[in-house]
Amino acid sequence: MKTSSAAITPATVQTLRERLAADGVHSLMAQFTDVNGVARGKLVPLNQLELLMTEGVGFAGPSIWGTGLPRTGPRAEYYGRGQIESARALPWMPGVARVVCDGFVAGEPFDACPRQILKRQLARLAERGWSLRTGIEPEFFLLRRTAGGFEPADPHDRLDKPSYDLKSLPRQQDFLHQLADGLTRCGLDVFQIDHEDAHGQYELNFHHAEALTSADHLMLFKMAAHTLAEQHGMVFSMMPKPFANQPGSGMHFHVSLWRAAAAGTIGLDTRCVFDDASQDLSLLGRQFIAGVLHHADALCAIAAPTVNSYKRLTVGESITGTTWAPSYVAHGPNNRTALVRTLKGRFEWRVPDASANPYLATAAMVAAGLDGIDRRLDLGPACTDDLFVLSLAQIVERGIAVLPQSLSSALDALERDDVICAALGKTLSSEFIRLKRAEWTEYTRHVSPWEMARYAAAF
Ligand code: GLU
Ligand code: MG
Repeated sequence: MKTSSAAITPATVQTLRERLAADGVHSLMAQFTDVNGVARGKLVPLNQLELLMTEGVGFAGPSIWGTGLPRTGPRAEYYGRGQIESARALPWMPGVARVVCDGFVAGEPFDACPRQILKRQLARLAERGWSLRTGIEPEFFLLRRTAGGFEPADPHDRLDKPSYDLKSLPRQQDFLHQLADGLTRCGLDVFQIDHEDAHGQYELNFHHAEALTSADHLMLFKMAAHTLAEQHGMVFSMMPKPFANQPGSGMHFHVSLWRAAAAGTIGLDTRCVFDDASQDLSLLGRQFIAGVLHHADALCAIAAPTVNSYKRLTVGESITGTTWAPSYVAHGPNNRTALVRTLKGRFEWRVPDASANPYLATAAMVAAGLDGIDRRLDLGPACTDDLFVLSLAQIVERGIAVLPQSLSSALDALERDDVICAALGKTLSSEFIRLKRAEWTEYTRHVSPWEMARYAAAF
């Protein structure tokens, strides 16, 4: 049976078990991420640590979204195998340590496990001597349930332009501090928290890291925020666009590529592959971004994967005057109105929204970037215009494309894109498309209050 992380010996397991026990841990949360970017798993007693690290703990495969596994036979069992370096006691769940798991089926890495999918793409980078760093920026809402649905949890959060609102922020100080403190104690480097552009919307930033670790961090952030919000009587929401007239929640990725340090010299070699002394971005950086733009429509399905995502990706007015929605397939230096904002030695990919699976979004973006490098795609001129003030006709005149405006169109693009589908693998890409088509069909068949109001008495 193949091992999946740093060599597991009885001695390493024993050392970890003692360390966790000293932290008061009695149970392990064996956690993996499903196709929808939702944390799943089970609790196992600490004395099961060795089994978790070697064979893994079992789950009924078809009970997990996106696996496509059968109900019977050896492939019916999905094993979550714990990654030893990820074990952390959870301050918001005393006695429990989270262990990130990789998916295994029949003793082999499972091809449709989102974390394994990302590892495959990172291995392609490693073959070229590169490693990827991402900084993932989650925006989110704090809501409360009402008789008819949801509203911002803080009834006083009502400014016309709520960005950086320092009147509302202190009212959520308890929650925000517990969240930042808990994540910091788990090893994340939290460096800022702000009130975002919508009522009840916030953003918490932690430092960029190697891409797999970054995605693990993002999942930990979501798990912490859900639990703590519930403890405060609120609902933590990563829905992309909860309120039609307010900005939605993005989950922008800051992306940079680094020449991997030679074995034994970790941290010593810090050459950024995207940096260039004479200009902001190297040729490789420009080709990578050209790939991300070239595959923008297919990437959109993965990075903006819900029906609701496309209500964020429109461009228009909101209470703050702009939604900051990155709908235009363009790039420009510090240009937040384009899909890619370029900065020195890195770029910000602004398409992903808060509902994206961070492993799949990163994997698909890497595949697009590598395609750009392999085909030496030309990035084309930078856009310095404020695209939000231009009319659609002016945008078209400049040769700038607009992202798909519905989940259905994005799925069409994904289905046509062999590069992105190959990166996701046959199982995951077909399961993703099947599930998301079903989501779209269900949405189009429901009758909304808007339709009733408009048509019920109209004819
Ligand atoms: N909320 C905006 C979005 O949906 C982004 C605002 C920002 O740039 O921070 O992408
Ligand atoms: Mg933001």
